[in-house]
Amino acid sequence: MISKGSALYLHAPKGCYDCDDCAMFIDYSHRCAIHSSNDYISPEGSCGYFVPGMVNSFGDDPKSLVTKQESGYVEDVNEASCKRCKAWSAEGWDCAVVDKDSAGDDPGIIHPDACCCLWQKDPIRGNMPDAAIEATEYIKREV
Ligand code: SF4
Ligand code: SF4
Repeated sequence: MISKGSALYLHAPKGCYDCDDCAMFIDYSHRCAIHSSNDYISPEGSCGYFVPGMVNSFGDDPKSLVTKQESGYVEDVNEASCKRCKAWSAEGWDCAVVDKDSAGDDPGIIHPDACCCLWQKDPIRGNMPDAAIEATEYIKREV
């Protein structure tokens, strides 16, 4: 099992991990502070370097520090989070690859609204809207 820290496990306050919720995003040009000025960055994209915060927090100058391949940039993620990841266990709020008991956010569980850099789209839940997922029994749990 991989620790939450090694997997960059994060439970962002809004539970959203798209570029338009990331502090690195430059929203008026659809660019990113750590990618190249030649790299179009979709508001619905995401990558392993997601940082929750106000867009444009790192200015409007793309610094070409990483390529899309190096950051793991992806599009069409349909709001990636654990509840849409194929490694997530809905019954136990657990994960097949990340240790829920390791140090980090959400002690003892893998929260449906958290995410990590090992996210992989679940073939069924990955395409479901929030309301459909939250209507199922497994999501109704107080934390
Ligand atoms: S590509 Fe990554 S670092 Fe850049 S805005 Fe999107 S999530 Fe943030
Ligand atoms: S369920 Fe997926 S996104 Fe969530 S911690 Fe596990 S691997 Fe990461």
